[in-house]
Amino acid sequence: MQPELILKARAELAEGPVWDARAGRLYWVDIHAGHLHVYNPASGNDLRLDLGAPVGCVAPARGGGLVAALKGGLVAVDLACGELELLADPEPDKPGNRFNDGKCDPAGRFLAGSMDDAEQDASGALYSLAPDRSLRTLLTGLRISNGLGWSPDGATFYHIDTPTRTVSAYDYDLATGALAHPRPAVTVPPELGWPDGMAVDAEGMLWVALWGGGAVARFDPSGGRLLAKVDLPALHVTCPTFGGAGLDELYVTTARIGLSPAQLAAAPASGGLFRLHPGVHGLPAFEFAG
Ligand code: ZN
Repeated sequence: MQPELILKARAELAEGPVWDARAGRLYWVDIHAGHLHVYNPASGNDLRLDLGAPVGCVAPARGGGLVAALKGGLVAVDLACGELELLADPEPDKPGNRFNDGKCDPAGRFLAGSMDDAEQDASGALYSLAPDRSLRTLLTGLRISNGLGWSPDGATFYHIDTPTRTVSAYDYDLATGALAHPRPAVTVPPELGWPDGMAVDAEGMLWVALWGGGAVARFDPSGGRLLAKVDLPALHVTCPTFGGAGLDELYVTTARIGLSPAQLAAAPASGGLFRLHPGVHGLPAFEFAG
């Protein structure tokens, strides 16, 4: 499980990795910079596109291109020409908010969460954009809407509001996209850091990035037991995702933001992109069906 530094990106806040199986590419973002990166593991090339606004996350779209959650709205991104098309603007009244983590559900909706960029107010919410572009608010009162994922059968939704140190589970109605019956699934103890991004493996276990904890940890959502922990040479570990042709690799993003010069000197790989072999495979990323 030894993590390998595959890209010395030195990103301020690398986040939101997602594997595009068709293209064999990994998308990831540097949030405040507004940069979308397209990493090609075959060549080692990393292409950078400036989206012109802070970007929380992206997801592949079924018809080609991507959807992205930008400060300013949820947009479709044409990768060929870089053109953006506004799909929905959920928070025109919250100028202090920005988007954070997001992902598509198995039915092709795009879910994206927001947060107060100053990390003061519980002004964040989780939105669900349907393929017909109708928008619904799933959760409100969030501080740092973060990692999300589904059980392999799609019937359970997991979501992290980082300051709660909790991965919450909900019944997920795939037909309507509605949430019900919130309950805690995993509580991350303080000595492990803060739960950030998350990936679900094919066995239904949760891989949680540990901000301030320098690791990614595997938890059993039924009971919350810690099953494994992989240390990385970066303190702020932000998000994991499964990738590679066999979906048997775990790509992990990290951040430099908030680290002191001494911490950066001790962990110079911070802000880089890592890859490890977790010993279990993941599920393909779902696409936006709009
Ligand atoms: Zn995050």
